[in-house]
Amino acid sequence: MMVSPRIIVVEDEVAQRQLLVQYLSRQGMRVTGVADGQALRREIQRDTPSLVLLDVGLPGEDGFSLIRYLREACPATGVIMVSVASDTIDRVAGLEAGADDYIAKPFEPRELLARVKSVLRRAASVASGEFFGPRVIMGRRVLDLERRLLLDGEGMEERLAPGEFNLLKLFVENPNRPLARDWLLEVTSHREAEAFDRAIDLRITRLRRKIERDPTHPEAIRTVRGVGYMFVPKGA
Ligand code: CA
Repeated sequence: MMVSPRIIVVEDEVAQRQLLVQYLSRQGMRVTGVADGQALRREIQRDTPSLVLLDVGLPGEDGFSLIRYLREACPATGVIMVSVASDTIDRVAGLEAGADDYIAKPFEPRELLARVKSVLRRAASVASGEFFGPRVIMGRRVLDLERRLLLDGEGMEERLAPGEFNLLKLFVENPNRPLARDWLLEVTSHREAEAFDRAIDLRITRLRRKIERDPTHPEAIRTVRGVGYMFVPKGA
């Protein structure tokens, strides 16, 4: 059974808070809005959230100390801090305190949603068990490089054939670089078994079905006309 993620929005400005709560609720999330750190602590004790959207500029206890509290109290919870655009220092301090991501005001709702979803995916993969080696977000899935499998947002695992894994690993090792089809074929195939150039396209098509949100409009593994394919990491 799918349970929608629980999100707490911490924002002292009423209008802004209501806007965020309404917007994220419309995306099917269970959202609670609170005005300060005290209310946040109460909510955390009631039920651990998947994600906290945290305004840094709060009256009383500030956002940074709340980030540190969250890291202690619920390490698997994702934290996105919200601050004003010019505050580079806020951003660095927030990430150092343990926030997973940062968004500057004013922001586009769609950008916020993309970040929320990305942090939720990461939080789910951490919560799904022990953290085994490096993991990389590819489209709607997470590639676990050590265990050689794909995870989804709920921590479900899918084993990969060696050929599939090797291909994804190549992409991860070469982000944002167009990779020639010939080269991909050469380094991932036993030549005699797959003599056709098309073999790589077929494999890419299969992998896109596994990882892309919409395989007909791939975002993670993109086609580079006349060259081959390119992995574009989330948020790059
Ligand atoms: Ca504020």
